[in-house]
Amino acid sequence: MANQNYNPFVNAQTQFDRVAEILELDQGTRDLLRQHCQEIHFTIPVKMDDGTTKVFKAFRMIHNDARGPGKGGLRFHPHETADTVRALSMWMTWKCAAVDIPLGGAKGGVVCDPRTMSKGEQERLCRGYIRRLKSLVGYNIDVPAPDVMTNGQHMMWMLDEYESIMGQRFPGMITGKPVGMGGSLGRTEATGYGVIYCLRECLKNMNIDITKTSASIQGFGNVAEYAARLYTELGGKVVAVSCWNAEDKTAYTFRKLEGCDPAELAAIKDAFGSIDKEKALALGYEVLPGDEWLCQEVDVLIPAALENQITPAVFPKISKKVKVLCEAANGPTTPDCDQLIEDAGIMLIPDFMCNAGGVTCSYFEQVQGNMNYYWPKEEVLEKLENAMTKAFQNIYDLAQEKKLYMRDAAYVVAINRVVNAVKLRGWV
Ligand code: NAD
Repeated sequence: MANQNYNPFVNAQTQFDRVAEILELDQGTRDLLRQHCQEIHFTIPVKMDDGTTKVFKAFRMIHNDARGPGKGGLRFHPHETADTVRALSMWMTWKCAAVDIPLGGAKGGVVCDPRTMSKGEQERLCRGYIRRLKSLVGYNIDVPAPDVMTNGQHMMWMLDEYESIMGQRFPGMITGKPVGMGGSLGRTEATGYGVIYCLRECLKNMNIDITKTSASIQGFGNVAEYAARLYTELGGKVVAVSCWNAEDKTAYTFRKLEGCDPAELAAIKDAFGSIDKEKALALGYEVLPGDEWLCQEVDVLIPAALENQITPAVFPKISKKVKVLCEAANGPTTPDCDQLIEDAGIMLIPDFMCNAGGVTCSYFEQVQGNMNYYWPKEEVLEKLENAMTKAFQNIYDLAQEKKLYMRDAAYVVAINRVVNAVKLRGWV
């Protein structure tokens, strides 16, 4: 579960404030960028299968759209809050700017647990979400995408509802569509692969041979699975993965010291990234408490599940062997931990750089949709690899040159681009 003691939006603002100070931004620009252009809070009534009506709380927020239409995922989560969506949409602004794609930052959420809802109930929820937002989303306004516990099917129901209302086809209104229905090949792999492209470049810069490294991962959903697959392909060893078990309402760490097999684990996980405990035991995995992933003797830690997982309270549990903290999730580290990471000499690959592969591929999906011509997977992944490598190296070089902590360097690059856009538009 997300750490309830930390408010992710306060975290996001604290990170921004720190870099606004470094960049000596004027007060008007700070006021503009620490808040949202637009926040929508609404409710969605859904007819449940048992004939009752359930009302779900929902959000859609645009943090800043100076560089292009809002772009950001939609989460279904029982613990979703307005402040989580605020933080995530703000991070989307920096993420799009960090990889230099012409999109702004947005995010949505619905307080619900799709694991306990039938397909029909989920479809009605998706359609209700778009009915309420119909004039506030669109290919040139704000473009939703999948995120935690949402997938291509959810996106298709939303697209279908939107197009039914508009009476026209608008494939660019949403991304993360299934392949063959306007989706891009490579999108499933994009975020996880992007994480590992950054890690690979980072290790190269640090003169560390990836084939001699090991990693421990929190999460085994979309991002973590593909990160684990590519990392293993490149010769790294995944020692442990942790994930949530909906039945027990608790998290477990699955460990194999000689190395986990990502394909084997993928075959025994459900659609929400929960690994079957009994099957894992039968395959020779140790099943440990959920937070054990953090205490492993590894070179690389990859939090790829939730925000606020690495705090000063748990930091002492991290092994002295850890050299790189690869933030695949959004906001996995609390700001009061940054100094500890820096002092420990751990190299950080900050979240909005590390996991930008997903939005970069979503942007490719829009480009392909606009052309109505779809690239083969190799071409998508090659473009993704180039974009991620270039963006990572740019931030790494700035950090080295100016002796900046990696998170600050990423913020400096991203904020400068957004400030340039708001100034050119005459907003400040
Ligand atoms: P997902 O829903 O596919 O998977 C989430 C994983 O986290 C599951 O394996 C789940 O069991 C696990 N989990 C949940 N609670 C846990 C806990 N307390 N302890 C251990 N494991 C836990 O989600 P995803 O798409 O893989 O996203 C993961 C993170 O990456 C999120 O922070 C998301 O915002 C971020 N992200 C995702 C994308 C994307 O393209 N999917 C892009 C950018 C960032």
